[in-house]
Amino acid sequence: MKNKWASCSTAGNLTFNSELLNLDKNVGDYVIVHELLHFNIPNHGRLWKSLMRAYLGEYERYEEKLRKSAHQKALLRPQ
Ligand SMILES: [Zn+2]
Repeated sequence: MKNKWASCSTAGNLTFNSELLNLDKNVGDYVIVHELLHFNIPNHGRLWKSLMRAYLGEYERYEEKLRKSAHQKALLRPQ
């Protein structure tokens, strides 16, 4: 968990980086919802995007904040 914000194993375990707690709550929520949706949707397609919007509204803002954050960690896509 040094280079990722979160990971999702094939066994269905989600792991989050504790550094998320230092970020804005909205950004932390973004990472959590992002990963939870991958239980049902393995990609970032239209369905994923519309659910992200339903849960978080303008989720692209948080995505951008995360990208600009000092740690520059990438979200892990499910394996
Ligand atoms: Zn993802």
